[in-house]
Amino acid sequence: MDMNLLEQAGRIEPWLGRTFTCVCGKEHSVPIRHISIEAGALAALPSYAAERGYRQLLVVCDRRTEEKAGRELAERCREAGVEAPICLLEDDHNGELAADERAIVQLMLQLNESVQALVAVGSGTIHDIVRFVAHRAGRAFLSVPTAPSVDGFASVGAPLVIGGFKQTVACCAPEAIFADLALLAQAPRPMIAAGFGDMLGKYTSLADWSLGACLLGEEKCELAALMTFRALELCISHTGEIARGTEAGLRRLMEGLLLSGISMLIAGHSRPASGGEHHLSHYWEMKYLQQGRPALLHGAKVGAATVTMSRLYAGIAQIDAEEAQALVLRRLAEPGRLSVERMEAEIREAYGAIAEAVLAENAESLNPDKHAAQLEQLAARIAERWDDVRQIARSVPAPERLTAMLAEVGGPVTAGELGVPAELQEESAKYALYVRNRYTVMRLMQWLQ
Ligand SMILES: [Zn+2]
Ligand SMILES: [Zn+2]
Repeated sequence: MDMNLLEQAGRIEPWLGRTFTCVCGKEHSVPIRHISIEAGALAALPSYAAERGYRQLLVVCDRRTEEKAGRELAERCREAGVEAPICLLEDDHNGELAADERAIVQLMLQLNESVQALVAVGSGTIHDIVRFVAHRAGRAFLSVPTAPSVDGFASVGAPLVIGGFKQTVACCAPEAIFADLALLAQAPRPMIAAGFGDMLGKYTSLADWSLGACLLGEEKCELAALMTFRALELCISHTGEIARGTEAGLRRLMEGLLLSGISMLIAGHSRPASGGEHHLSHYWEMKYLQQGRPALLHGAKVGAATVTMSRLYAGIAQIDAEEAQALVLRRLAEPGRLSVERMEAEIREAYGAIAEAVLAENAESLNPDKHAAQLEQLAARIAERWDDVRQIARSVPAPERLTAMLAEVGGPVTAGELGVPAELQEESAKYALYVRNRYTVMRLMQWLQ
């Protein structure tokens, strides 16, 4: 193993613009060339653009971020001889901006041929709109985060809401990120708490990835996993500073969020940073969309969902090997419980209009020709590897500890506090495991309940 690579896992700088052969044997590359996290970072964007030969930018904001940073940026660009008109994205009838076809068309209408680079000035949503359009229109993508609210700034996936349904579209990472701490310090407190919640979720996403590797032999890049863990440590070791919104706290939180994004670039998928806690959050989000309810902050949902997942892990840590074997054998003896028919029926019932897409996502684990053999193999594996499973479960902090950290930063600690109705909480506990065909603690619980 190249120890040198692993030693650098907690830093952002060494990975920028780099292509390298990893400890996992694969070649990884990070397309982001430049990241600055400092007070006044915004002022460096015009000269960066000029150096790269971008004379024509389009600065994409909504009304809030135009006032906070967009206008200032446009002005600074003009002074530096870089043209940078503003594209103002209008809110929808709910007074919200979503990464949907309405917003995408608004941006497309202002994108003329001479624009060389799109600058996203805003939180996750504006980044997703710009990420998609920049990628499809073949323009450079520059990022100015205005709140440390999600880890998606540095990633390639754009979660879009198309026809009322959410889908993540593979696009591109920004080539440069200018995270101005003076700007981030003005972010609303709930958005800072949301960023912290998204980071706390890495405890369970990493544990879920380890379960997949342990029980199904899933590929796991130790560098990407370590990088995500280091990103998490950066944040939890500065919980007090983040809670107070100090410059040092916001710096650590932003570093953590961006490093987590880079770990996804390295892994080539969101596995390091997204597990059962994200599936639960997506399930709530999907139902809110279907019911036309206003969206909740991504990280706020993930934070509360992480506490829920940690309860499942805490339960697993209590089960000894003998008990685990008995539970697994009991489940195998009830062939109806984990049958393809039953799971398909559950998906149709829970997912309604998008059931077909969810069935397709789960096709591999619902293949009737392989299902019985897969179940037997998995049962044997769970029994055999139970000590490792317990070890993984113990790596997740107790729910009380996670709750205390979230509360300190001011994020909601339960789904109820977030306003998720009790009925939806119950439903999601049963069906959210199907959101992705990815092994999580919720899938393991199918054997143990
Ligand atoms: Zn997230
Ligand atoms: Zn690797």
